Amino acid sequence: MTLRTFLIASWALLSASCQAQQPQGQQDTNRASSWCGELSPDAYRVLREQGTEPRFSGEFWLHDQDGVYVCMSCGARLFDSGTKFKSNSGWPSFFQPEGDTTVDARVDLSHGMRRIEVTCSVCDGHLGHVFEDGPAPTGLRYCINSVALDFVPRDSVDILLKKDPK
Ligand SMILES: [Zn+2]
Repeated sequence: MTLRTFLIASWALLSASCQAQQPQGQQDTNRASSWCGELSPDAYRVLREQGTEPRFSGEFWLHDQDGVYVCMSCGARLFDSGTKFKSNSGWPSFFQPEGDTTVDARVDLSHGMRRIEVTCSVCDGHLGHVFEDGPAPTGLRYCINSVALDFVPRDSVDILLKKDPK
């Protein structure tokens, strides 16, 4: 199965499950409102249209509380605050994701650049990009849009998040 086929299949599955939750006869053909959950216009532009929030504008780029960052769209655990570092990039930066299968990475050739795009492995939402100029131990910098994230404080993690997100 090619990546493209896989993505289309995933999209079809997700659409089907979303539509199944809607009352009959009220299916919305507008893609913007057919995704599961509700996203702000800014979050939708980043997560579903590969947008980028302006530097130094996001809620989390200077955020330093102890806890877990989850996907704004589907709630999957993405990054632990223990892997966050100050990069001066203007976006939240992490040196590794929460787990090996938390995020997916793929080549992004848009805007005349060759970058590695990072997406949520559960809902396929665009999160940001990963660069090879991060700190030890990985040497990676996951440069993530704040609006693609939500934050769960450490003392609420056990209550709000399942141990195994999959
Ligand atoms: Zn997600």
